[in-house]
Amino acid sequence: MAPEEVRRHNLTAVLDRLHRSGPMSRSELAQKTGLNRSTIADLIGELSRLGLVEEKPGTASAGPGRPSPVVSPRPKGATVLAVEFSVDSVAVATVGLGGHVYGKVRQARARGTHSVDETIEEVARMARALLDDFAEDQVLVGMGVAVVGVVRRRDGFVHLAPNLGWKNVPLGALLGARFGLGDAVMAANEADLGALAEFRRGAGVGATQLVYVNSEVGIGAGIIQDGQPMLGAAGYAGEAGHTLINPDGKPCTCGARGCWETEAGEAALAERAGLTEFVGQQLIEEITQRVDDRDPQTLQALQVTGTWLGYGIGNLINVFNPDVVVIGGLYQELYPYLREPMEEAARSVVLQAPGEAVRIVRGSLGVDASLLGAAEMALSPVIADPAGVRAVTPTEPPDRVEA
Ligand SMILES: [Zn+2]
Repeated sequence: MAPEEVRRHNLTAVLDRLHRSGPMSRSELAQKTGLNRSTIADLIGELSRLGLVEEKPGTASAGPGRPSPVVSPRPKGATVLAVEFSVDSVAVATVGLGGHVYGKVRQARARGTHSVDETIEEVARMARALLDDFAEDQVLVGMGVAVVGVVRRRDGFVHLAPNLGWKNVPLGALLGARFGLGDAVMAANEADLGALAEFRRGAGVGATQLVYVNSEVGIGAGIIQDGQPMLGAAGYAGEAGHTLINPDGKPCTCGARGCWETEAGEAALAERAGLTEFVGQQLIEEITQRVDDRDPQTLQALQVTGTWLGYGIGNLINVFNPDVVVIGGLYQELYPYLREPMEEAARSVVLQAPGEAVRIVRGSLGVDASLLGAAEMALSPVIADPAGVRAVTPTEPPDRVEA
């Protein structure tokens, strides 16, 4: 490696460590990165000049002598706008280095088709308030977008988002133009981003191979392999909801029959529970109420749905050999009721070796997993090239709406 390449690599290593693990002393940093102390001092100097880290005097130390100064990521030095287009809501957040959330708004929406233009205007209004709260010296570096659909990462082109009624929408370009951010907009599928967030900051911290199961209207999976998202040849990997699980099952929205989501998805659960008039959060609340009342049909519906969920998870465990499977999305809240049948069914199909190491856990980031994952994605270019950070200046979105 050329010296400048080595330097960039080392800057990335130090910033990545601080971004993921939070404040630590120089000696801890040296230990974790394997770099010597004078190199660390030099790298911290450069990252400080770039405004990406700050160093403060340490507090009481265990040993003798002066307490070692503590180095922290500086969230204001690189902040991103995170946006999520979900089935039941739109959300916007401002998140800085180190995962610091400055502000967050989520707006519930009725399910169904939404105009792309109106949705972008809504996001612009929501973002305005958050951007107005920026400090003078706060640096915006880009936007990360989570979409419930099939998305091309390179440019944020949405091929298909059936639950929003979107097809072939150049979402990345539209958002870039609307906010004046140009190509500093990255977009990806929400299950992939939920996986990234749970891996970096949630229930999957420390995992090597993680499978994230996202349940919204459908079921999707996000896979992290060796710390990196597994996207497939063209970015469409993880459509686990459309793997065949029951040849005698119901027709699926994709045109096939007996897909995993037709047996284990929200609609199947609602139908079994006799609650088809409810969707999303309302369905969760109805089910929770009926579980409290020990309603037999609801308990049976959870038993059957949990079993189908478990078979699919077992298949994923056999294919990917994860150390953690994280249950996210709507089923995060129903996890206590689904857990037993799900674990049992998964164990019944999992081979012994991959089954021994795996844990199936509830996500810990709640409804915001994909939103936080979008922020992580948008911050990744900063980590990859700290010296190449460029500030972007958003236009004043709402003014144009009212004009
Ligand atoms: Zn299907």
